[in-house]
Amino acid sequence: MNKLQERINIMMKSMQDLEKTIKSIDHKSYGMYKSLQGEYQFGNFVFSIDKVQGDPFAAPSRVRVRVPKTTHGFPTSLYEKHETRIALEDMILRQWNKVVQGYNGRGAGSGNSGKIAVCPCGQEILERMAVVVGKEEIEGRFLMGLPAKGRSIYADALIEILFHFLPEMVEEVFLYGSYAMAKLEENKRLAEDQAYIRGKLEELELVAFIADGSILPRESGVSEKPLKGAVPFSSPESQQVTLKLPHYGEITGMGIKKGITVIVGGGYHGKSTLLRAVELGVYNHKKGDGREYVITNTEAVKIRAEDGRNICKTDIRMFINHLPNKKDTRIFTTENASGSTSQSANVIEAIEAGATAFLVDEDTSATNFMVRDSTMEMIVSKEKEPITPFITRTRALYQKRGISTIIVVGSSSAYFEVADTILQLDNYKVKDIKEKVEQVLAQQDKKVIMQIEDLPEIEYNRVVKKVDMSYKGRDMKIKTTGRDTISLNKENIDVRYLEQLMDNGQTVAIGYFLKYMMETMVDNKKTMQEIVEALYEQIKRRGFSHIIPKGYSAGFCVLPRKQEVYAAWNRFRGLKVQ
Ligand code: ADP
Ligand code: MG
Repeated sequence: MNKLQERINIMMKSMQDLEKTIKSIDHKSYGMYKSLQGEYQFGNFVFSIDKVQGDPFAAPSRVRVRVPKTTHGFPTSLYEKHETRIALEDMILRQWNKVVQGYNGRGAGSGNSGKIAVCPCGQEILERMAVVVGKEEIEGRFLMGLPAKGRSIYADALIEILFHFLPEMVEEVFLYGSYAMAKLEENKRLAEDQAYIRGKLEELELVAFIADGSILPRESGVSEKPLKGAVPFSSPESQQVTLKLPHYGEITGMGIKKGITVIVGGGYHGKSTLLRAVELGVYNHKKGDGREYVITNTEAVKIRAEDGRNICKTDIRMFINHLPNKKDTRIFTTENASGSTSQSANVIEAIEAGATAFLVDEDTSATNFMVRDSTMEMIVSKEKEPITPFITRTRALYQKRGISTIIVVGSSSAYFEVADTILQLDNYKVKDIKEKVEQVLAQQDKKVIMQIEDLPEIEYNRVVKKVDMSYKGRDMKIKTTGRDTISLNKENIDVRYLEQLMDNGQTVAIGYFLKYMMETMVDNKKTMQEIVEALYEQIKRRGFSHIIPKGYSAGFCVLPRKQEVYAAWNRFRGLKVQ
């Protein structure tokens, strides 16, 4: 601790001061709770009341605990590396959720009185603001409903929470001694193994690795838990890769190689389930999930059709040219895209956002974007067809830009001709059918009819225009609803179809990131790419908490990938480009 910090600590109010103040405002009007805002030394941790709710029914108050290293006692070895720190934070937060669940309901009073809320967690291990393990201390953010009787202050209930429950909670959640050493070690080892696989992908020229024995399907459409009794994943021999993980030791699985991989199979044989697991392999999964060792290149992007999305001056010439209304497709703009134009823009914008692989499922694609059969080619001449389908671009995208494609097709055989790897799903088992397909194609004497067209240069010089984002003379207004909607100055951004956005907290963070970029980075000179990349450089150096203002949802913010940030900005109808 440095001198300055020591002086601050001496000046900091004590828990006795807090108790006195609380007693002095008992029965008074709820607004008086505001006088409690500040920091308090609670024995061996610091408790701060950052923002007091306006009334007992409003969103609970924003509070924080800070537990210094000397108190929490977690050995540095558990959080030295980035990946192990995230894993430790994740474990602490899950424990916190459990402890709070056991407590909630004990509170007395009206409205949100006594309610304690902490950031919920799903199957993914993500970087969250709720728990931050720093060099000197662990910081935990949460919400607390300050108790009321009717609309006046209920001191006894608050004293009960702060001086009985809170220290108990801090002990159970933030102290090393409350955890089984073996569990912490196991958690750390998994994080290191996952990081190891991620690191190996590039060297082995893989887009993804799926370990044998993985459980890919989920329990149901509303539960992300593993399906019980599922057929475990197993790799066909030809695609087998064996890795030697630092802790787990040897592990074998399917390596999906760079290039074009086509996945076929009858309906209901598990194609989309496999692709979904690959999509979410950009994140690590917690122990027991079934996808712990399903790891995908972090910059792989799901591409789908998205009718109705907003597009602002995206160069979609690669796929769409000479539209009947003479719209310039180099700066394609629409408030209401069609299936094919939306999917085209999704590809181009994903390239701009640094995609290393496209993940495409026929189920969610626009047919005319995917293929064009040869009979149709003969009848409707090429000059009359504005669409150059994805199939004629996919090889060039790989050869010239190094972007792989993994594509699921059920009904069209056309993609066989451009594939490096062809897999079939048969009763949830993967088979390598490349040879078989080649034999069939040879018998048909079918030459490659697909002209592999040259790739037009894409113009990524979309300079973002600075527009006034104040709202009725005040600060930009921002609100998020669940996972799917961000609203900026009442203009909704629909992020429902960003299928790799996995957490409500990521949606919240994207909202704040957009606000931050528009207010402090957009300058009529920088392109969208320059701005988002600069933001993520900043995040890499300093984390992301400094970007999040002191709103009540701060503790619920979760770091999104930059790909989803680009995607949300591109869908914002208030985006203006020079
Ligand atoms: P497809 O895309 O080939 O039509 P899906 O991936 O949608 O098939 O899977 C169809 C159903 O089979 C889903 O309900 C899914 O949960 C289930 N399923 C997928 N993989 C497995 C598996 N390995 N074991 C058991 N059930 C599975
Ligand atoms: Mg499917």
